[in-house]
Amino acid sequence: MKTILRIILILILIGAFSTIFFLPISSQTQEKPTIKIVTTIFPAYDFARTITKDTNTSIELLIKPGVDLHSYEPTPQDIINIKESNIFIYNGGESESWVKNILKELSVDTTIIRMMDSVELIAESSDNIINKEQNKKPVYDEHIWTNPNNVIKISEAISQAVKNHSPDDTSTIQRNLDQYKTNLQNLDNDFRMLSNTKTGKLIVADRFPFRYFIEEYGFDYIAAYPGCSEQAEASAKTITELIKQTKQNSQKIIFNLELSNNKIAQTVASSTDAKILTWHSIHNVSQTDFDSGKTYIDFMRDNFDNLNEALYDHSAS
Ligand SMILES: [Zn+2]
Repeated sequence: MKTILRIILILILIGAFSTIFFLPISSQTQEKPTIKIVTTIFPAYDFARTITKDTNTSIELLIKPGVDLHSYEPTPQDIINIKESNIFIYNGGESESWVKNILKELSVDTTIIRMMDSVELIAESSDNIINKEQNKKPVYDEHIWTNPNNVIKISEAISQAVKNHSPDDTSTIQRNLDQYKTNLQNLDNDFRMLSNTKTGKLIVADRFPFRYFIEEYGFDYIAAYPGCSEQAEASAKTITELIKQTKQNSQKIIFNLELSNNKIAQTVASSTDAKILTWHSIHNVSQTDFDSGKTYIDFMRDNFDNLNEALYDHSAS
């Protein structure tokens, strides 16, 4: 008993000691962030992180890596975080209808950025989709970032908001934006070159949230399901059509999406000997990829390599 009391006493002393001596030191060295940005999805988080590099900004991602964003509901703490933010960035599509109620409660001091307001919107479509969605009222596709040119427009909106909240960082923000635009333009050039020089059909044994990408670069493709909403079970008709298309087009590569259950891709691959590669929609990312610090540009570079591998250069053969 005496030993336990002694341990408790020591713990209390350590606690008191650290409160008195350590906390003031850490709060002196760690400067309070100048601005606080709260974002809903990974692309918004990554764009804000890139634009505010080398500034004293805190950025929070609400929809955590690896989770299904369609089942996301904000916690009371999430709502407090949004209310305390200087800049709140959300995408504004169908999967973020929960945002609407929170916006009404935000103070005028919070700058609200709806990424879909920065770009020209394209309606969801069932072109080249095997399972067309029945009786669904037409909505705008929300995966606007799949076209790098849209990311330039979104980044401009974010950098303007950050400059307004933190005028001292104006030159750093501008430098980051200029650098980012160069990287995005290089990405755009590379995809354009790929679509101009290579032909072949991209077989997507999964959902297809790449409408903005396809409108910009014009690759030939076929996919199982539209959008990227809830996971679909593979129907016999879908599997049969994908296998037929893979064989007809002599495709050695078929695609799945990140965080997919992979059922369709695995079934098609086992009947065709095609290899499965991932085409990242980047709507959400895995915990591993998030922890390793992968960026939008990194995922798009992976996409470039994988599309390049899947396409045959018929003009050269
Ligand atoms: Zn999505």
